[in-house]
Amino acid sequence: MEERLILSLDQGTTSSRAILFNHQGEIVKVSQKPFQQIFPQPGWVEHDAKEIWSSQISVAREVIAKEGITGSNIAAIGIANQRETTVVWDRETGEPVYNAIVWQDRRTAKYIDELKTNGHIDRIQKKTGLVLDAYFSATKLKWILDNVKGAREKAEAGKLCFGTIDTWLVWNLTGGKMFITDVSNASRTMLLNIHTLEWDEELLDLFDIPRVILPTVKESSEVYGTTTTHLFSTKILISGMVGDQQAALFGQMCTKPGMVKNTYGTGCFLLMNTGDKAVNSNNNLLTTIGWKINGKTTYALEGSVFVGGAAIQWLRDGAKIVKTAPGINHLAETVEDNGGVYFVPAMTGMGAPYWDQYARGAIFGITRGTTDAHISRATLEGIAFQVYDIVKAMEADAGKKSIELRVDGGAAASSLLMQFQSDLFGFKIIRPKTLETTALGAAYLAGLAVGYWKSVDEIQSQWIVDKEFYPVLEKDKVKNMLRYWHKAVKCAQNWIED
Ligand code: ADP
Repeated sequence: MEERLILSLDQGTTSSRAILFNHQGEIVKVSQKPFQQIFPQPGWVEHDAKEIWSSQISVAREVIAKEGITGSNIAAIGIANQRETTVVWDRETGEPVYNAIVWQDRRTAKYIDELKTNGHIDRIQKKTGLVLDAYFSATKLKWILDNVKGAREKAEAGKLCFGTIDTWLVWNLTGGKMFITDVSNASRTMLLNIHTLEWDEELLDLFDIPRVILPTVKESSEVYGTTTTHLFSTKILISGMVGDQQAALFGQMCTKPGMVKNTYGTGCFLLMNTGDKAVNSNNNLLTTIGWKINGKTTYALEGSVFVGGAAIQWLRDGAKIVKTAPGINHLAETVEDNGGVYFVPAMTGMGAPYWDQYARGAIFGITRGTTDAHISRATLEGIAFQVYDIVKAMEADAGKKSIELRVDGGAAASSLLMQFQSDLFGFKIIRPKTLETTALGAAYLAGLAVGYWKSVDEIQSQWIVDKEFYPVLEKDKVKNMLRYWHKAVKCAQNWIED
């Protein structure tokens, strides 16, 4: 008999992807399709929810066809999705009443300011684990109900559905039969009490959201249902659903408390597993649900760096110091150290733990001897320093020291960056063989639910490391560099006077 595969749907912010994984957790085939980004006004970002669906289902069908198999060769479907993005649709017709409002959208920032002024910050953080911000779904959903003609009346009459992208995809995959979300996605709406795992009546009141519009909250790994008949040659089980960053944490097999992963993409996304404890942050990190499996909820702390790999892009496209992103490594390798140069890549302000929207990028310590190679090196180091600061904040919140960091994302390809990251931390950096950790995490969750993999331990034992990096730089040198870095950050902070 042919080997059965897991179909992972990785629904991201700029493209929909479908990846087939085999029993060893290896990629068998990939299909990908970008979709339109809609910018109706400055600060507004929308997607056509129907295009999200059509692109996602077309890559799913395509990847199966490319591999020359049929639906009956698929053991289960797992979904990882862009988080917080908000869709509202008609329960009867399945037609969205408005475009999907994307997580990046800032249209509700003023309303958020009002909530802050009215003293809602602490209560919301205690219940949801989130920092009061326009990023999350609640205010986007309220905006749709308040601004789309007739939406509020219809919502109150039970005629509309709200969902994040996981909910929207499962609804469509099941032909409107299943109206569900998973706890990890629900924890990003700002409507879920992350301690009780229930939609919170007080928050629904505050945001003026009718209870009836919300989906049922499920675990991240369980058999939810099957695809409707006409989509594939046969009905396929759907058994994994999880937000993309949590998916990556699971795909990295960070399944024990204290384990941390970082994705070095355009920005950097860090998550630390905190086990069954929802750790409240004193450092402006987010407390989020990682996943729920077999009745057991795993929590995580989350922090992000706004400008990660984007600093390398700036070096290429703005400063024009390198021609390609990988080129930065060759140039940086031509010098032994940064020559006293420190680059704070705060081009769009700074995220956790600084949260300074008035900070701006700055390069310090330039002398007559400074070259493009030193600046390249300082750019890579500037990414690593920011990641260091977040992990330290996580350790402080969790009251637990990390012993390693697992990495993925485009810039994790830079061995120079990984080596420096290890030097900074004084512990090992682990780069796995499969860097598609988001899709892999969803595949694992789906596979566990149907017995494709028997246990997390079984997966753990087949999880393959590509390379490990160990610290080599002297501790005193590291200490000194950190001192200069933090001095540089202080200077870059509060730069814009507005
Ligand atoms: P995203 O998903 O956010 O678009 P990716 O995970 O694809 O990002 O990572 C892209 C980033 O990785 C870019 O900012 C690019 O500068 C960086 N990058 C890609 N390859 C390398 C490399 N070999 N060395 C250093 N940086 C790299």
